[in-house]
Amino acid sequence: MALNAEHVQQLIVLQKHDQAIDVVDKALADIPAAIQVLKNTIEEARNKAASAKAQVQDFEKKKKERELELAQKEEAIRKHSGELNTVKTNEAFKALQTEIDRAKSEVGDIETAILELMEKIDAAQKELKKVAADFSAEEKVLLAQIAEKESSLAATQAKKEALLTERQALAAPIPEDIHKIYDHIRSRGKRDPISKAIKKSDGGAVCGACRMNLAPQMVIEVTKLKNFVFCESCQRILYIPEVLEKALKVGA
Ligand SMILES: [Zn+2]
Repeated sequence: MALNAEHVQQLIVLQKHDQAIDVVDKALADIPAAIQVLKNTIEEARNKAASAKAQVQDFEKKKKERELELAQKEEAIRKHSGELNTVKTNEAFKALQTEIDRAKSEVGDIETAILELMEKIDAAQKELKKVAADFSAEEKVLLAQIAEKESSLAATQAKKEALLTERQALAAPIPEDIHKIYDHIRSRGKRDPISKAIKKSDGGAVCGACRMNLAPQMVIEVTKLKNFVFCESCQRILYIPEVLEKALKVGA
């Protein structure tokens, strides 16, 4: 396919521009991922604070249950104590007294359990206070970082828009078939479709990208600057900078 020095120069400029777009694209992928990491960190801290709160609530619930149980036992003791005056037989009196004693002993156990729960609630509340303060401080820092990243994302998006507009201007003068070949190589993962061929002291040359030796006939072809020459190993478009420079000067 026919080619001239100007086209090669246009492709080199376009490639440099496309590589700048690649850098921006990478940032456009990386920034949202970084924002997500920050959001996850906030969520983890929030969960930690929530579980500290749930711990306090759990102890409080247990304390309430014990208090209810205590009230029931105390009511039973009161009731049985009243009944002591009404029983007729000695056995019934003894049985009732045993019942009352057992309930009193249970009351003692419940009171101990309530005291233990009050200590646990106290410790859990202190922990909650600390965790909540830590969360609030951490969240503030993380939200600021997120805001910073979001504004950087917006700026990067604007930069990409500008680069794409510039690209249209750079690509416009390049013949469509040449542009297609360039895009095709790029779409296959070679982000630098056009590569220097580096001359060696023995007159030969290597591909500047993959370092493969070029066949002598290929070196001649590249030097002519008339047709596309592709590296046989990596399929990039080749040019020799010194040859290109001379040709551009002659053209001008
Ligand atoms: Zn190569």
